[in-house]
Amino acid sequence: MSRVYNFSAGPSMLPESVLKRAAGEMLEYGTSGQSVMEMSHRSKEYMEIIQAAESLLREVMSIPDNYKVLFLQGGASSQFAMVPLNLMNKSKKADYVLSGQFSTKAYKEACRYGDVKAVASSKEQNFSRIPDIDPVECRSDADYFHICMNNTIYGTVFHKLPETGNVPLVADISSCILSRPIDVTKFGLLYAGAQKNMAPAGLTVVIVREDLIGNAQDITPTMFDYKVHADAGSMYNTPPTYPIYMCKLVLEWIKNDIGGLESMEKINVNKAQILYDYLDSSKLFKGCAEKDSRSIMNVTFVTGDTDLDAEFVKEAAANGFVNIKGHRSVGGMRASIYNAMPTEGIEKLVAFMEDFEKRHV
Ligand SMILES: *Cc1c(COP(=O)(O)O)cnc(C)c1O
Repeated sequence: MSRVYNFSAGPSMLPESVLKRAAGEMLEYGTSGQSVMEMSHRSKEYMEIIQAAESLLREVMSIPDNYKVLFLQGGASSQFAMVPLNLMNKSKKADYVLSGQFSTKAYKEACRYGDVKAVASSKEQNFSRIPDIDPVECRSDADYFHICMNNTIYGTVFHKLPETGNVPLVADISSCILSRPIDVTKFGLLYAGAQKNMAPAGLTVVIVREDLIGNAQDITPTMFDYKVHADAGSMYNTPPTYPIYMCKLVLEWIKNDIGGLESMEKINVNKAQILYDYLDSSKLFKGCAEKDSRSIMNVTFVTGDTDLDAEFVKEAAANGFVNIKGHRSVGGMRASIYNAMPTEGIEKLVAFMEDFEKRHV
């Protein structure tokens, strides 16, 4: 068996020790005589799994008691509708920052449910940076203020959070959750599709301050009402049982093997630095994101020649560095280097890039 270094933006790599553990428990979980996949979600064994997943997430992310943790389905994309349906309920206004494709989708979806304003955008720079936010544009009576924290496609991240005063800050953290500590108290709501940094696809995590739920718009489908899921402990209907179990294993890995999110951040910053340092010194490759907006999770770069980019992607794959092609809206390359990508994977990629550069400059 030879496992590749998978730079996919999502679904993406999972820690090898987690996959081995899951493999070991595939046919029989504990002494239950069955796989987690086969269990009733209401069985005693499974209840222990989902409760452990929630308490580990609370511990690892330091989530305060006045926040609910919801394990849902529908992907981050469903949250583009769930957030406005549940939160746009007083002034029916919400402010959005357009920092990429996902935040633009979130904005367009929210426009269906209220008075939604794009208060800042970096579209004209092809989202190569986080836009500056002019406080004059922001509405103090908005029901919430939405950002996409880490822009997966463009490789940019909010290094500083917008000041929103009393307006609850809502963030899509799909591609940066668990990558470093984050002060949950600064947010009204956080959401993430789990397939980037937490678990296999199928699970969506929502962390929401209690006072923000319970006033969904009348048209809200039952399955889209946070209160319904919060009251039922994410068991209103069948939750994505296996991804939740995998999420628990990933959280155990972060807590016990890595040593928590401070340690995770150090590892991730170092990994990204190795790649950015090389890009900044390279005569062939060039980073796409502006320096003060660079993400530590998704690193975008180009050679400036689309044929050469394609050749690089092909050769990289042949050498065990797969899924490194950039998103079609940026072109070039993108190395998604989530938590499970070992430092060795980056070092080997850089060595390969150096060799490719020697042969092409
Ligand atoms: C991947 C991604 C999404 C879309 O997630 P789905 O779970 O596929 O709906 C949304 N936002 C961000 C930041 C992402 O990285």
